[in-house]
This record gives sequence, structure tokens and C-alpha cells, in this order.
Amino acid sequence: MQSTTWGDNNQQDMCFLNDYFDEKLCRKPKGMKQILLERGKWKEGLRANCQLCKNGDKDPNRVDCCARRIISLEPDFVAQKGALHEIISTAGHKCGRLQKTVPLGLDSVNLTTIRKFARKTWHYMDIYRKEIEGKLAEYAVKKYKSHRHVLDNILEELNKVEI
Ligand SMILES: [Zn+2]
Repeated sequence: MQSTTWGDNNQQDMCFLNDYFDEKLCRKPKGMKQILLERGKWKEGLRANCQLCKNGDKDPNRVDCCARRIISLEPDFVAQKGALHEIISTAGHKCGRLQKTVPLGLDSVNLTTIRKFARKTWHYMDIYRKEIEGKLAEYAVKKYKSHRHVLDNILEELNKVEI
């Protein structure tokens, strides 16, 4: 986990440092309480999570009901992108909205095509399990007409070829 900057250019590490006085915590990720304590935003008796937040209630007027809510509203946490997004951006690419794009892509393929590919994939898996590879596997998949019945014939045929 990388460090972050909050408020008026304050650095904060997300893990306890190597020389933290409590050896058990050295290099371990900080919890929400520790993060809020360091920011002066921890209140005694604050709960980690509350029922409203668990229920998905995002009332913008409720800003300090629980530690999770307070942290989720901190500007540096709001600005934090997911790890995958960061990797894609760092590589100089634009990160499309995968959660929207993937279902759209899948919806654009008709069910018959999906079933054909699924069936072919099963045939390849079955053939690979029988340790048939390369050109022979491709040949065997083409010969695969119905479920398992044809495969036995194909295996006999392939065995003849090897002899
Ligand atoms: Zn809450």
C-alpha cells in the first residue's frame, strides 16, 4: 500500500513503519482507527461501521456516523483509483469502465454463438485431458460431432495413425 497526502500536504503511510514501537505492528496495514487518529478525526466511541452505511444509505448530510463513512469522505480516499485502473493508466492507456463495457460486450454476442464456443471449449478440455495436443487436438475437435461417442472412434483412429 502506498502512502497518501491529506489536508495541507500531510503525508500518511498506510502501513506502520519498520521502527514502530510495537514490533507486532511493524509494516502491517493500519486500521481505520489509526488512520483517523493520525488525522485528528477519531472520536471516542466511534464505531467501525453503522447500520445505515451497511444498508447502503448514502445521505450526504450524514458525514460522521462511523469510521468507514468518515474515511470514505476523505478527499484522498475519494480520489484513490482501483489498483487495476492505476496499472492501466500508468501504462499510458485510458481505463474504460469495465463494469459497463464487459456486460455490453457480452450482450453483443448472441446466445447460439456463446453456446457453440462453450461446446468447442469443452471438447478441447476433454481432448487435452486425454493428453492429445497440437495438430492432433485440432483434428480431434473437428471430428467431435456429438458428446462422447465420437471421441472413442477418434481415439481409435489416432492410435492407428501412431502405430
Ligand atoms: Zn456509517
